[in-house]
Amino acid sequence: MTFLPFYGINVSENSTYEGDDMNKIKLIYEGKAKKVYETDDPTLAIFEYKDSLTAFNAQKKDTMQGKGRFTNLISATFLKLLQDKGIPTHFVKLIDDNHQLVKRLKIIPLEVVVRNTSTGSLCKRLGVEEGLDLVPPLVEFYLKNDELGDPLVTEDHIRAFCFASKPQVEKMKELSLKVNDILSKYLYERGIKLVDFKLEFGTDEEGNIYVADEISPDTCRFWDLSSKERLDKDRFRKDLGNVLEAYEEIWRRIGQPKAAIQKHYEARLFIYLKEGVLDTQGKTVLSSLHSLNYPEVQDVRVGKYLKITLNSPSHQEAEFKVKKMCEDLLVNDLIEEYAFELEEI
Ligand code: 5GP
Repeated sequence: MTFLPFYGINVSENSTYEGDDMNKIKLIYEGKAKKVYETDDPTLAIFEYKDSLTAFNAQKKDTMQGKGRFTNLISATFLKLLQDKGIPTHFVKLIDDNHQLVKRLKIIPLEVVVRNTSTGSLCKRLGVEEGLDLVPPLVEFYLKNDELGDPLVTEDHIRAFCFASKPQVEKMKELSLKVNDILSKYLYERGIKLVDFKLEFGTDEEGNIYVADEISPDTCRFWDLSSKERLDKDRFRKDLGNVLEAYEEIWRRIGQPKAAIQKHYEARLFIYLKEGVLDTQGKTVLSSLHSLNYPEVQDVRVGKYLKITLNSPSHQEAEFKVKKMCEDLLVNDLIEEYAFELEEI
């Protein structure tokens, strides 16, 4: 069977889909957000990311045109990044806007959730406040079972019922924490807080473990660093609106090189008359203070204090900009001087 949907699709620039070798494929699995096809090569599969969105174990459903494109592209970017940093993942290559080629694996029936901040089911289950920093991060295991609503399981449950072996559990934990470090840093540099995420793992014929499935706003929580705006599936779960826009924003930010990412700075500027220049206003305040019985005051210089917030890709650049601002703000640089403090916020 020829897989026609590939033809006529506006393929992304970095797509390397070669056609013939992967053409004859058959649907082997359809999930809530993806379809999986087998290929001519028994070791490889094709993931098709769908436009459907589901939440609360598929009790809430919708379709948003273009969502599958974002989850595919975002997931491919993260999986490639992890692979480049030495994390084994199932990702082989991006095919086009909705498809990627992956290794065929035997999926371990567990979901691993890593949490950096308290929210979601953790707050519901334990009655703890939302937004608490979790240091070190929490790692939890859930059994992949839709009928049971993916229950939380302990390592003893996993061992007792052979959901995974002890070395596999150790490896999944180790890889999940490494993934957390890599993605948290990468996202932070792009103004995003990685709040929590879910990973799945699979094994190849030799028993090697790989990160499988997807890493996208469907499976992670992303908060804007400064506004805490939700940029993930919580917008759908909680009816916050602008779901697609949030996914697009994540894609826009991760598509940017780090240098182009704007950070936020606060500059506190002081502009005052140079030492030795007569400050008549200062003298007036000085004599008022003396008459108010503060004889210990030696001198008063009146100046301007300005608090400025600005965006800049780096501290160095922000410093350069603020210096230039101060010089431009000086009415007369022969008699005026400036100083400033700069802090990332
Ligand atoms: P929570 O347990 O708070 O609902 O979810 C924790 C994190 O794991 C969230 O980022 C959530 O998106 C992800 N997650 C947990 N279980 C699932 C699941 O069954 N499907 C998807 N797509 N994400 C999940």
